[in-house]
Parts: sequence; C-alpha cells; structure tokens
Amino acid sequence: MELGLKIDVDTYRGTKIGVPKLLETLAEYDIKASFFFSVGPDNMGRNLWRLIKPSFLLKMLRSKAPALYGWDILVRGTLCSGPIIGERLPWVIRKASEQGHEIGLHAWDHYKWQNHLDKMNARTIFDLLKAGVRLLEHIAGLPVKCSAAPAWRCTEAVLIEKEKFPFAYNSDCRGHGIFYPVVGCRPILQPQIPTTMPTYDEVIGRNGMNDSNYNAYLMSFIRPGQLNVLTVHAEVEGISRHGLFREFLERFISRNGNIIPLGRILQSDIPIDRARILRRVIPGREGWVSYQSN
Ligand SMILES: [Zn+2]
Repeated sequence: MELGLKIDVDTYRGTKIGVPKLLETLAEYDIKASFFFSVGPDNMGRNLWRLIKPSFLLKMLRSKAPALYGWDILVRGTLCSGPIIGERLPWVIRKASEQGHEIGLHAWDHYKWQNHLDKMNARTIFDLLKAGVRLLEHIAGLPVKCSAAPAWRCTEAVLIEKEKFPFAYNSDCRGHGIFYPVVGCRPILQPQIPTTMPTYDEVIGRNGMNDSNYNAYLMSFIRPGQLNVLTVHAEVEGISRHGLFREFLERFISRNGNIIPLGRILQSDIPIDRARILRRVIPGREGWVSYQSN
C-alpha cells in the first residue's frame, strides 16, 4: 500500500515549531514527504474576525481551535500585517529541502488566497504565485516544481496562471485519482494529484470521532491499487496532535505501508484521466473546496 504524504504549512508558528518536529519524526522513520510552504505574510489571525459568522464559531468550538492551533496563530496579523515567514525562518525550509523532502509552494499570503480568491483577477493571482515561487526558490536554492492551493481553493483562472510556471504537478483539490484538469475545451498539462482523505479538523468532534478512534478511521480510507493522499498540517500534526500522527505512521508502516512524496506517485505508470474542477461543500469544512468532477 502506498500513501502520498502532503504537509501543508500555513503559518509562522507551524513553520517554526511544527516543521522541525515533523522533520525529526520523518527522519526517525526514514520517510520522505511533500512540504508545501506559505512564505509571505502570516495574516491567519484575521480569520478571528470571521468569528462573527456563527458557522465558523461552531467549527472553532467543535475542534477546540485555540488548543489545536494556539492563540498566537489565531490573532496573528489582526492589528498589522504579519511577519514574512520565509524571511524569518528560511533555515526551516532549507532543512526540509536538504533532508530530501519535496518542496512546493502553498501560498504567498494564505489568508488572502483563502478568503479573497473569488475577487482576484488573473494578474493578482499570477503576482501572488510569482512572489511565493521567487522567495521559495531563493531560500531553497532549487526550482519550485509543484504547488498546492491554500484551503483547496482553485479556479479555472488559477489553473491558467499556474501553467505559466514550470510545475510538474499541482495538488489543488479533493478527489480520487490523478487527472489533467480541463478548462474550456482543453486539458491543462499540469496534472492534479488530489487529496483523497479528510483532515483532522474536518472529522474530529463529529459522528463520535475523537483522538482514540481517529487513526483507525483514517486507515479505513487507504486501499491498495488506488490513489491515497493524506494532507496533514504543520500546525496540527506537527504540534498539538504530533503524538497522534506518530501513532498513525507506526500503524501504517506496521501494515507494510509505504509513504512517499506526491511527485513520486507521478513516476509510477498510473493512468491519468481528464476531469473538471468543481466546487463542493464538504462536511466539517467552512465554505467551498475544489473537487474532481468525475
Ligand atoms: Zn493551508
């Protein structure tokens, strides 16, 4: 059984504390994964203002967000623009790259992308991608060959702008198999490797799910012969739920599971379909995410 491991890094705190912890654990188990970094300003605390929305407040309380993410993440960037993560913590990103993990772009400004993508024109989308790629390449000293949209929010405009970068693949949506996304009548030649499994914050606190049955539930999604991609967050699995994540790794490895970076999945001769990217609301997550159409 193969599992692609995607690690999203959204914040300054996740980069500073979560990534080093994950690197240590992955080295211990001799695992290579794909890290998608947010390198620009950390304004994620601005999500706090969205507490005025009842659905968001409920999600925060259900998943015990302050305990899960830390209060400093929740208020970061609320008063003035947050720190430029890549400028403050380049050594963390460099270390991940030097240890042989795949390095990709998650965001320049995660908050802005996640909340304002619908209002952005093509130029703004390109500029955000360019700013992120430029700083990430400067830090890692290598070309950036993959990207993953923040909060799985991707539009046709995003796909077209991403084509201007030499990405070997993107991981922008949820779905079940690798595919070439179709825009208008033509396929975009950068394949999508979708996340196939739910995330911790989507699942926990709903339908009787808690930390003691979570890993067994995750395992139930993994099947041989199909695409299996798990997304974890440096802010969660790297910090407050690190023990739970270690337990998952042990459980999967003990069943002869093999964990690989997403780029490695492309090297196998797995068939690549064509599909559109649609929007869908999924249980436990606020707002829409991009989804593989078929
Ligand atoms: Zn993210």
